[in-house]
Amino acid sequence: MSFLDIISLTRRFGGLKAVDNLNLSIEEGSLTAIIGPNGCGKSTLFNLICGALKPDIGTIILDGVHLENMTATEIARHGVGRKFQVPSIFDDLTVMQNIHLPTLRKSRFASEGPSWTVQQILELTKLAHRKYDLGSELSHGEKQWLEIAMILSQSPRVILLDEPTAGMSLSETEQTADLIKSINANNNATVLVIEHDIGFIERLNCPLHVMSSGTLLKSGNFLEIRQDTEVQELYFGKAGDFHA
Ligand code: ADP
Ligand code: MG
Repeated sequence: MSFLDIISLTRRFGGLKAVDNLNLSIEEGSLTAIIGPNGCGKSTLFNLICGALKPDIGTIILDGVHLENMTATEIARHGVGRKFQVPSIFDDLTVMQNIHLPTLRKSRFASEGPSWTVQQILELTKLAHRKYDLGSELSHGEKQWLEIAMILSQSPRVILLDEPTAGMSLSETEQTADLIKSINANNNATVLVIEHDIGFIERLNCPLHVMSSGTLLKSGNFLEIRQDTEVQELYFGKAGDFHA
């Protein structure tokens, strides 16, 4: 058994199997990326892990505990920290207040994942110089990093990041890859990232899983995946350059 085990997971929407008999094992302390074309079921997979959706079939076990029958709140308490595609920070609170907010509720959280001090979180997310600024004053990239900071303050056992670079400039995208790598390396945090941006995935330099039609098509490192003709056809309809 691994730290996070997903076994035979299936979720239908009407006739569509958005997640289809998916199996995935994640080791504690690992950084893993999940890629795949639009609509292949990546966000649905995260929704199932964090309890926003219930599976039709299958099992999700985190650190020995079954999640599939828990509520979203119970799953958050057990230590699943999830970042959504659109950042949801509080515009009228300062950066510090935004980071403190989840810790105020922490007594309600039983999660025993890696923990960081507020100062460490501010430094990791490059927000130390912004700590007294309002959420509304942050750039788009900084808002995304603040949302990651808010997740870290909950000491999650596993961190789920859904397209953390959506809408970012190239430089912000590169900084986000470095930030995620340092969160993983600095405190042995278990991080699972969904992403579209191939440059970002290359910079993350971590094991990849490719999803297609709700299931896992391939797993490997960046070079193995880039050279795979099935993956190239999935992305471009024909064998070609993965970077195209
Ligand atoms: P991805 O994140 O890989 O782009 P999603 O998991 O969002 O893909 O969606 C997978 C498939 O499930 C898509 O065809 C999408 O339209 C469908 N889908 C996702 N959520 C719902 C929902 N709440 N109701 C109906 N269909 C959905
Ligand atoms: Mg998605």
